[in-house]
Amino acid sequence: MTKKINFGAGPAKIPEEVMEKAASEFIHFGNTGVSILEMSHRSADFTAIIEETKALLRDLMQIPDNYEVLFMHGGGTGQFAAVPLNLKRDKTSADYLVTGSWSDKAFKEAQKYLDAKRVTPAVKPITRVPPENEWTRDPDAAYLYYCANETIHGIEFFKAPETLPGVPLVADISSTFLSRPFDFTNHGVVLGGTQKNLGAAGLTVAIVRKDLIGHELQITPSVLSYKIAHDNNSVYNTPSVYSIYITNLVLKWIKEKGGAERFAQMNQEKASLIYSIIDDSNDFFYCPIDKEHRSLMNIPFRIGGSNGDDKLEKEFLVRATEKKMIGLKGHRSVGGIRASLYNAITLDETKELAELMKEFQKEKQQ
Ligand SMILES: *Cc1c(COP(=O)(O)O)cnc(C)c1O
Repeated sequence: MTKKINFGAGPAKIPEEVMEKAASEFIHFGNTGVSILEMSHRSADFTAIIEETKALLRDLMQIPDNYEVLFMHGGGTGQFAAVPLNLKRDKTSADYLVTGSWSDKAFKEAQKYLDAKRVTPAVKPITRVPPENEWTRDPDAAYLYYCANETIHGIEFFKAPETLPGVPLVADISSTFLSRPFDFTNHGVVLGGTQKNLGAAGLTVAIVRKDLIGHELQITPSVLSYKIAHDNNSVYNTPSVYSIYITNLVLKWIKEKGGAERFAQMNQEKASLIYSIIDDSNDFFYCPIDKEHRSLMNIPFRIGGSNGDDKLEKEFLVRATEKKMIGLKGHRSVGGIRASLYNAITLDETKELAELMKEFQKEKQQ
């Protein structure tokens, strides 16, 4: 069975080298005589893995000293609740930049715990980030929340939104972890699940500015409390041990390949290849997203014009499958095609997709 090229949005491709390493030590980890899956999360061996994983993440993301790295449960979705629960403090409201499905989910979850306010009016379809002069921000908001990359809509912030003095930013970077360097300036919390760019599903990373730890609401579930996670070195209860281990291997792989800056170059190159085919196709391929905010990680597009031709899109997916390319079907909420080009996707794999796109257009427009 040949391995397929997985352009899926998540859980996503994990680098071959990582899979091989994990397979080779699946039954016996090092000289411990047991598998990671069987090891106490409080053992010295596993504590060393947690410490090393945090240190790797700190180093690769250049996380400033006044932030804590917390390993938690519940995925990005769990953090949609954790953020208001931990950051509300004595405030009544928080601001949300809703630029796609994920920030919208975060916005709706937050409404359970505080007065969540949209910074921009709701418009459909979402194809851009409205310019700052259209935002209404509250100087007394507990925080300003944004999703650094809308995995479904394909909208990315290449620089953090401007926030008002004293209002910390909260960023969901689930789909851009180490896809490029990240600037922590003004950020209170930077969060995400690991199943897109950092490994397997099950681990949630929250990078929290120290002064924001310890103010959670009384009702905060223990597993969502930043203070409890911090005070217990992320092992208040059993963490996703295997996912932490996989992330450890992925981080070593990223480091070996040259780190965030190197991936930023490679990701730019891969995405440009696909976007240039879209832009040169005379609207045979169509990406609705404003060029300034087009995602380098997730490229949504239609085939056969701006509304997409259902039949052509289906046929394209069949052709892709024949060529061992999977995971290209767009999210059910937006339709069309979506190519996810996370760190693990190589330039060669991207070229195969590019070739298929060109070939398909040529054939259909003969
Ligand atoms: C996948 C994703 C999530 C949801 O993550 P879960 O771990 O499934 O809860 C949240 N935000 C973004 C940007 C995502 O891509």
